[in-house]
Amino acid sequence: MKRVGAHVSTAGGVENAPLHAAAIGAKAFALFTKNQRQWKSPKLTTPSIDAFQKNCNDGGFKPEHILPHDSYLINLGSPDPDKLQRAREAFIDEMQRVEELGLRLLNFHPGSHLKEITEEKCLQLIAESINISLNTTMGVTAVIENTAGQGTNLGNQFEQLAFLIDRIEDKSRIGICLDTCHLFASGYDLQSTEAAKLTFSEFDRIVGLRYLRGMHLNDAMQPLGSRVDRHASIGKGTIGMDVFSYIMNNPACEEIPLILETPDSDGWSAEISLLYSLEG
Ligand SMILES: [Zn+2]
Ligand SMILES: [Zn+2]
Repeated sequence: MKRVGAHVSTAGGVENAPLHAAAIGAKAFALFTKNQRQWKSPKLTTPSIDAFQKNCNDGGFKPEHILPHDSYLINLGSPDPDKLQRAREAFIDEMQRVEELGLRLLNFHPGSHLKEITEEKCLQLIAESINISLNTTMGVTAVIENTAGQGTNLGNQFEQLAFLIDRIEDKSRIGICLDTCHLFASGYDLQSTEAAKLTFSEFDRIVGLRYLRGMHLNDAMQPLGSRVDRHASIGKGTIGMDVFSYIMNNPACEEIPLILETPDSDGWSAEISLLYSLEG
């Protein structure tokens, strides 16, 4: 089964996320387990964790259909040693929260070199950060998201994702989340079924489809290769519908979270229905 959902709000507590997801007809969801714009957040409480698990169970959401996203402040490839240390501590905290919730995946953007170190050095720091966090925790898979390549963000080329995976000691706990808007913004064409097929086969050749643990389904505001990270609602951007049809009929996308991060949350329910209508 295809598991389409959205990145839902946790206003009032993480336990509300599965309720929001169920209300829009989602079969998967993403969430922040803490305030994504702050370094420190209160610890998750036992009643909140229990309610989260009950609501997930009631909504039919299994751990592999839930894709927590880390804080935007974390740069696991930071050129500044103090900031790098702080990022690593915060990332371990994020992983521990995922563990406490009984979940298995943590989605994150690899990191930025900030023009202070080379791309390769930055990628090495990121790989080291991932290894440290996997060694400190149990059962959670680090899910690297491909980026739009905006500014000095790395992870926009498949070769960079492969470079990271190559350096991860525990290959059973590393995965990839492909974001369609980011793919398109970084120059991977998705505007026709043929183009989508080619992009997926490139990904398979360079990285490996076996590492695909989730996707972010977003149309794009900007043209191919813009390197601008601006999401559009499904069918209302520059990518068009072909790639979404391709994904909804692709066996590699079965039983993994397919998450909308599109701008209009009032339209998510309709977007989810639209995506399911593409199944052949
Ligand atoms: Zn994304
Ligand atoms: Zn984005």
